[in-house]
Amino acid sequence: MALKISNTLSGRKEEFKTLKPGEVTMYVCGVTVYASSHIGHAMSALTFDVIRRYLEYKGNAVRHVVNFTDIDDKIIKRAQDENVEWKSITERYIQEYLDWMDALNVKRATVYPRATEEVDGIVAAIQTLIEKGNAYHASNGDVYFRALSQPNYGALKHQSPDELNSGARIEVEEAKENALDFALWKSAKPGEPSWPSPWGPGRPGWHIECSAMALRHLGPQIDLHGGGADLIFPHHENEIAQSENLTGERPFVRYWAHNGLLQAKLVDPETGKSSVEKMSKSLGNTLSVGKLLEMGDPDMLRMFVLGSHYRNPLTYTDESFEVALTSLKRLKSVFAPHETWGDPDSTVGKAEATAALEQAVQTAKAGFETAMDDDFNTPAAIARLYELVRETFKGRDSGASGAALQKARESLAELGGVLGLRMKELPITNGSQDVEPFIKLLVDLRKELKTAKQYQLADRVREGLKGLGVKLEDRPDGTTWIFEK
Ligand SMILES: [Zn+2]
Repeated sequence: MALKISNTLSGRKEEFKTLKPGEVTMYVCGVTVYASSHIGHAMSALTFDVIRRYLEYKGNAVRHVVNFTDIDDKIIKRAQDENVEWKSITERYIQEYLDWMDALNVKRATVYPRATEEVDGIVAAIQTLIEKGNAYHASNGDVYFRALSQPNYGALKHQSPDELNSGARIEVEEAKENALDFALWKSAKPGEPSWPSPWGPGRPGWHIECSAMALRHLGPQIDLHGGGADLIFPHHENEIAQSENLTGERPFVRYWAHNGLLQAKLVDPETGKSSVEKMSKSLGNTLSVGKLLEMGDPDMLRMFVLGSHYRNPLTYTDESFEVALTSLKRLKSVFAPHETWGDPDSTVGKAEATAALEQAVQTAKAGFETAMDDDFNTPAAIARLYELVRETFKGRDSGASGAALQKARESLAELGGVLGLRMKELPITNGSQDVEPFIKLLVDLRKELKTAKQYQLADRVREGLKGLGVKLEDRPDGTTWIFEK
């Protein structure tokens, strides 16, 4: 089946065809490293991690570039507030970001270029744009891109320049020829970090760094460009204008993919009224990735993100993670340490049950791929995995062979892994890992009591555990147990 992907530029779902068969060039806008990342940033990283993993599962070699914006006003301000060099701020948050993404099982990008390490390429790009008449050195010392020099400026947002001008909140800057023009180079104010350029000391604007980095690390045209929906305008619109005029190649990006934003409840401290707003540092309705990682299974956030289609906005509430954790438990239940599955090499079993389970594996795999081929429909893909979990337990209960059970579990681990879930490596324990040996001890003790015909005491163990939320289930091959809510 062919993979289809929603392209923001065309506004349609299109078949995904890369410039070179079997290879994907992918650029995703990264973070500005002036503070700790919140789960909204992680959501974008998780979304494109799943997209990348699925492209790889389909047999593609993916070259994945994620930038760090390591110079801007907020970084300069933070450094001034802490009275340290700007570099110590950016180093701190880049390292923290990478550590947190590792903990979330986000695959490392092929390259993480930093704006301050790409200044040469950026300056060369700006110079070319000036020579071509797309940019100008203004009276205030800054260099601006002439937005209207790009034919169809506004195409990504599906608005005309007039609509953009009236709709967007654009700062009126006297030095600009047109309100839609945007800065490529910002001249340095006294005391600010700066780099030399033909237009005097200064630093690059935000938009140009992505064009220069994509060009340098991926080439003049790229297959897939991702980012949050809030980047469509002006950031990605500007990237198109810069890149296409710089290289003369169109389109700069073959497929534009944007994830919906993470929203969270915001309570007005004065009126007490609550509303749902985009999660943002400036609004103060954020949850840091570090806090999240203290809350238990690090796959929980991924599960929350996968539960909704990536293009839709997602709202975080207090219950969000409870729901995600319940789903995760269901999905990982076949890998719970207390479950027993018989000999994985044994082909002995009831023929009908074995055949039914083998069929269920095929059906789940095909259904999973159909769902993912349809613009990475993760909620539908996960539904196929739930079905396979059910069928696997059913297969065990109805006497499928150990080998068939093993194959079903391996398929679940593989497909879950395509979504980045650590099915085997991180079995669900709900923070109960510490008590498992004790439960096992009591289960063994109860077995001995039953053998010794001490039924009253054996029942006391069962009832006692039940009171603590642990349900025992006697099966022909032994006793299993689960945590009940
Ligand atoms: Zn960018």
